[in-house]
Amino acid sequence: MAETKSICCYCGTGCGVIVTSDGARVTGVRGDPDHPANRGRLCTKGANLHLTVRSDATRVLQPELRPSRGLERRACGWDEALDTAAERFAAVIREHGPDSVAFYVSGQLLTEDYHVFNKLARGLVGTNNIDSNSRLCMSSAVVGYKTTLGSDAPPACYDDIEQAKCIFIAGANPAFAHPILFRRVEAAKKSNPDLKLIVVDPRRTDTAASADLHLAILPGTDVALFNGMLHVLLWDGLADFEFIRAHTEGFDALKATVREYTPKMVAQICGVTEAQVVQAAQWFGQSGATLSLYCQGLNQSTHGTDNNAALINLHLATGQIGKPGAGPLSLTGQPNAMGGREVGAMATLLPGHRDPANVEHRAEVAQLWDVPSLPERPGKTAVEMFEAVRSGEIKAIWIACTNPAQSLPHQQLVREALEQAELVVVQEAFAGTETAAYADILLPAATWPEKEGCMTNSERCIGRVSAAVPPPGKARADWEIAADFARRLGACLGKGDLARRLFYYEHAQQIFDEHRAATRGRDLDMTGLSYAVLESQGPQQWPYPQGAQAGTARLYGDGVFPSSSRRARFADTRYRPAAEQADARYPFTLLTGRLRDQWHGMSRTGLAARLWNHVEAPLLEMHPLDLERRGLKAGALVRIRSRRGELVLPVQACADLRPGQVFLPMHWGSRFLSGQGVNALTTNACDPQSHQPELKHAAVQVEAVDLP
Ligand code: SF4
Repeated sequence: MAETKSICCYCGTGCGVIVTSDGARVTGVRGDPDHPANRGRLCTKGANLHLTVRSDATRVLQPELRPSRGLERRACGWDEALDTAAERFAAVIREHGPDSVAFYVSGQLLTEDYHVFNKLARGLVGTNNIDSNSRLCMSSAVVGYKTTLGSDAPPACYDDIEQAKCIFIAGANPAFAHPILFRRVEAAKKSNPDLKLIVVDPRRTDTAASADLHLAILPGTDVALFNGMLHVLLWDGLADFEFIRAHTEGFDALKATVREYTPKMVAQICGVTEAQVVQAAQWFGQSGATLSLYCQGLNQSTHGTDNNAALINLHLATGQIGKPGAGPLSLTGQPNAMGGREVGAMATLLPGHRDPANVEHRAEVAQLWDVPSLPERPGKTAVEMFEAVRSGEIKAIWIACTNPAQSLPHQQLVREALEQAELVVVQEAFAGTETAAYADILLPAATWPEKEGCMTNSERCIGRVSAAVPPPGKARADWEIAADFARRLGACLGKGDLARRLFYYEHAQQIFDEHRAATRGRDLDMTGLSYAVLESQGPQQWPYPQGAQAGTARLYGDGVFPSSSRRARFADTRYRPAAEQADARYPFTLLTGRLRDQWHGMSRTGLAARLWNHVEAPLLEMHPLDLERRGLKAGALVRIRSRRGELVLPVQACADLRPGQVFLPMHWGSRFLSGQGVNALTTNACDPQSHQPELKHAAVQVEAVDLP
């Protein structure tokens, strides 16, 4: 039996694991006692990882090609699959230009995979049409940090959990979504009975049930609450005016705005009591060390950027940033969403936290990659990308390691897009995803214990992912597939020499070295890191510049921020309601969230029988009063309908939400819900700044299904 150190491939906690294998198969997984995130512990999902990695019919084992639409795919070799993909991509690019193709990648790729796809899209093809499913989970946090602190860098760290005097969890349910972090919160509370835990969530989740104060705000009213808390902090003398004067700007405008956000007004908007607003502000401001943890409840909103910025405003107003136990710390949903942000493999980013709209930044990256220039035209973000595929503006799309036919909102639109596209290439490890069904070319990818590379977790901590076993069948590492395709595409486009020069890699380490070179002198400088350092010293937090002896736990402790003025900036945030409000026709607000033992679209967790013990089947949760008013009994079949689609499933009583609200976990796809997934209901309305869709809530109606 061999043992290999690696990282759990599910949530952004980034727990260290030790994988045992017999050389061919993974036989077990246990927590890595040396890893700083989990110190040997694993949640149910992590502890059962080995049950999801199999080489049987659950995996894509060889390339497949569809001779033409309407025909079944047939097995083929790598040469035929990639030559066909290259010839067809090249034909589209020659006829319609580089922006007629797109690449849609994933927060589950390794940093090295991301880097190669980014170089392929921007350096070889010449399009900014590259985006990631991280758009669905983190883009509001990115813009929130940049707007206020000047850079996309979470300033706090996990060790702040044990040092905080108050923990403020907003729009997150870490008890289910980041269980190991929540165990650290519970342990911190046990060892310090004075630690205050405040939870902001419309539902009484397991996290909320542990809180000293639960603010069950109405969906989408976060900005009103945070502005109201700031009002109390300012008018009760709990703000740090010395910090505000010395290290921030924009305070006067925000102060004028929040003057009107009295606890009374905020209580009415948010559906909580004035006393709760005041109490939350007092605990936040008086603690001296408040740590905020937040996730999709803030991000997946049409005002997600404002939600993030309004919360960061509270930290700036109280000077609680860059100090032990204090600061805003966004939780990443996916294991390597942070790596994608570093690499800049998104339409709105460039490598090393650069900006594609900045001409100097484009020139810097072009020089680093040794290409003549980078494209200037804005690329399509996730929702826009599939809208452009449906309209025919984008004709060929390459999808890697993600399942947009289930995970994007307004599923009907996405599926129409995939049907209408001239060419859909899907690079995937697991057979049977909703998106794989649309593939004209299906390529077998290696998955987590079969790959070499790096991932970065929520606290900027980079760790090594190491291959414990070889990939099954003909599967290959994602970066290898992308680089092989790039060389063939280059030849078809008459850029063979350029492609061979750009995609020369023989090992993942060469890619990481190229990536870290792009961070030199930037706020995330990791030029002092290498595979050798990560393997000998363990996971490290950036920045870690050349010559450093250790990573950086906290940022901005000196009060200097990476903005042009070197100051943090208060964002003048104002409350705006959610995109869809309940009305007479759609009288319920649908809330979406996670289950404890499932992850994303269940293409992996759904394979482990043991993970079905917690929740066995899709159920719609509804308040008992609503069930009674509608004459429904628990277990009855109901039809839930939004403006975009409908589902039929059983209903169950749940008093953890308010009357007028219903809850559905986001995991259920068409394999479990007769042809449609939860996102048949959700809206594709997006935040105008972050382009993140409002997956968290939508207006729906619920009616009994008359059985024949
Ligand atoms: Fe994996 Fe997240 Fe569980 Fe850790 S908390 S074991 S990273 S799923």
